[in-house]
Amino acid sequence: MDKISRFGIIVTKEIQSILASYNIEVSEGYQVFEINEKSENYPLIKSELEKYEPLHYSIAKFSKKEIQNSKYLKISTTSHIGYPQPEDDFQYINKSFNLEKYCDNCGCGAVQNSPLRLKSSIKLRKWHFSQFHWIFDTLITTKEVYGELSMVFQLDYMPILKYKKEEEFENIIQIFPTKEVELEMEDNKYELCPKCGRKKYLPIIEDFFPKIKSDEKELSFAYSKQCFGGGGIDCFKALIINNSFYKIIKDKKYKGLVFKPLKE
Ligand SMILES: [Zn+2]
Repeated sequence: MDKISRFGIIVTKEIQSILASYNIEVSEGYQVFEINEKSENYPLIKSELEKYEPLHYSIAKFSKKEIQNSKYLKISTTSHIGYPQPEDDFQYINKSFNLEKYCDNCGCGAVQNSPLRLKSSIKLRKWHFSQFHWIFDTLITTKEVYGELSMVFQLDYMPILKYKKEEEFENIIQIFPTKEVELEMEDNKYELCPKCGRKKYLPIIEDFFPKIKSDEKELSFAYSKQCFGGGGIDCFKALIINNSFYKIIKDKKYKGLVFKPLKE
């Protein structure tokens, strides 16, 4: 794993010449650039930039081998297909979720119990996996991919409806894991909701994703028990797959997912 530092800064002539002395070429104005923290000059560049108070954070970057050999991987999608409908005032929550345990302060506890809706005019691009905006633990795929995966793995699914027409989309469906697994969160940071007392972990970007607590046999596709979110009413579970699931996605050349290895 490499750690990549990402800096966001308004580049002046002065900053431009500092960076140029380390062979980093950037234009003037607000710029975002990355430096591998393993690079020889990284500590110097970092300390020279500090006085300009840049926006700065680190991201873990995994090698192909680390991903290929990982026993479990967290998945996320590279695209979002559209907003769940009706989107005004987040009304879709009332239509598609059981809200008995929902908390309107942290957004946790809503359980999907019926299909989500998309505008019927939505354009289906060429991908095999995508996701709804706002609901980061949904996974949308094509019926063809579902057919292939469900021959090997246990999956649940629901149709996706065309908003207002209430007809099912022909090509796409939403798929769900049938299991939940507990993760070892160690000292990962979380927010404690003052209203419902639930913990919501901050997204993990600097490291491997936390390890699964107890190794369950035949665990191919699961939700995390823990919830994640970046503040506000974002609250979602992580989607986790095992290496066999990953291998099929790669063998079949299915597009639209990014993978993050779990600790072992
Ligand atoms: Zn809450």
